[in-house]
Amino acid sequence: MEPFFNTGTMSHHLISVAEASRLVAQYAPLGGWEWVELRHALGRVTAQSVASDIDSPPHDKTIVDGFAIRAEDLSNGVGELEVIETVMAGMWPNRMLQAGQATRIMTGAPLPIGADAVVMVERTTSVVGDEQSRVRIDDSTLRVGQNVVRRGAAMRVGDKVIAARRCLRSLEIGLLAEVGRETVKVCWRPTVAVLSTGNELVPHQDVPRAGQIRNSNGPMLAAAVHRAGGVARELPIGPDDPTKLAALIRDGLDADMLLISGGVSAGDLDLTPGILRELGVVEIFHKVQLKPGKPLWFGVLRGERDKLVFGLPGNPVSSLVCFLLFVRPAIRRYLGEIDVEPRRQRAVLSAPYRQRGPRAAYVPSKCEWNNDGLQVRPLSSQGSGDLRAMIDANALAHFPPGDQDYAAGASIEILPLDDA
Ligand code: AMP
Ligand code: MG
Repeated sequence: MEPFFNTGTMSHHLISVAEASRLVAQYAPLGGWEWVELRHALGRVTAQSVASDIDSPPHDKTIVDGFAIRAEDLSNGVGELEVIETVMAGMWPNRMLQAGQATRIMTGAPLPIGADAVVMVERTTSVVGDEQSRVRIDDSTLRVGQNVVRRGAAMRVGDKVIAARRCLRSLEIGLLAEVGRETVKVCWRPTVAVLSTGNELVPHQDVPRAGQIRNSNGPMLAAAVHRAGGVARELPIGPDDPTKLAALIRDGLDADMLLISGGVSAGDLDLTPGILRELGVVEIFHKVQLKPGKPLWFGVLRGERDKLVFGLPGNPVSSLVCFLLFVRPAIRRYLGEIDVEPRRQRAVLSAPYRQRGPRAAYVPSKCEWNNDGLQVRPLSSQGSGDLRAMIDANALAHFPPGDQDYAAGASIEILPLDDA
């Protein structure tokens, strides 16, 4: 294979972050679907709606411990009644209430026929009689229906209880269990190959020699993929050698998505775009008005289901910013989610910030709540290779393109980093 030295002759129009997001969304496919066991469904997205197979509650039930009564037997909630049986949750009442009778009943238990309200035990006193047990009721606010939930009040057989394209949290897992689901139909998780390139890289467990650094992007991006809901597969480190790199890239193209870190800038050994083109991956864009993350490359391998390839900048902070802005939404979309763009909120700058130039800045920052609301402070770093400076970051502060001096107290947009 010919070497693909970047000649620097190709002129590239930098597209905006919004345009790049739009293009990724346009090409990002939705995966297929599969059935998974309920205990493996957390974090997955429903491929179809789910209906209830039961009425809930399944019977008229009491929501307190107390006595099931007929309201008409009491005057202003006061009176003395004969206790005919005790019904615990899990039991079924044997006796119907007649005039002057009450049933002792525990939370969740079915209401006996004839009862129309439950008086909580705290408003009753047991009367110790000779033979029958009796109870004295004193509940001045007694209403028909009190402390009773009617059969089917929460949901009925056939009700749609979870919509399609909903991400399943523990809450939904509980509801799915309640409606008897053993399995759930969910969208696929994408497999995402991660390829770190660069002659200077050594595996993270090794001790770097002169001129070498450890591969931090590989493990970081694999973790970010996993965190986003994808299935990461880390490939061996790719050297800056066209033939070897092409073989690894070909391997990575087996996955649904391929993330390549490094080799997309304008250096002599930035071979990735050329090799990708050679392998039939169609470039959708290269270079974005983004700081950090300008060299980002995005392309598509056409097929039955298009495969996405992201060429991420080698600098770890740039790589992570590009992942969060562009790769994570593509993974979320494949997983079935509808609303995939990063969450954005407002915060107040606690220190001035000077924004210059045509690229949007996404600055690792620390957000904290105080009495005036959410405060954000951009962190200082040694550049986009400085992961260490990011350790305290819990948000990216967003400064749109253009020259502007932001004063302390200005309201700006932030992207929380809790998904990173
Ligand atoms: P590149 O985009 O290949 O020009 O790389 C830009 C910078 O990021 C260089 O300083 C690289 O040494 C560094 N870099 C590239 N890949 C990695 C990696 N996997 N882990 C840590 N740093 C990297
Ligand atoms: Mg490189």
